[in-house]
Amino acid sequence: MRVFCPECGAKSCIQKSNRISSKYTDLYCSCSEPECGHSFVMNLTYSHTLSPSAKTTSQLAFNMVQALPPEQRKELQHQLSML
Ligand SMILES: [Zn+2]
Repeated sequence: MRVFCPECGAKSCIQKSNRISSKYTDLYCSCSEPECGHSFVMNLTYSHTLSPSAKTTSQLAFNMVQALPPEQRKELQHQLSML
């Protein structure tokens, strides 16, 4: 990931990252331009989903099946066995 100094526009290095939550990280950066020497914090945040996680989808399906009454669960098992 490329970070640029907001003061002089030079490439900057990420020195340290501090993960605040699963969707938010603070990036501690320093400018690579010796005459600038700016050190600063950038924020990395989750924006939105383009394609849903397969893990989330299968977990969702599993939770829904668990919520079914036993007879409907059996019926679903029967239907799935025919796939
Ligand atoms: Zn700079």
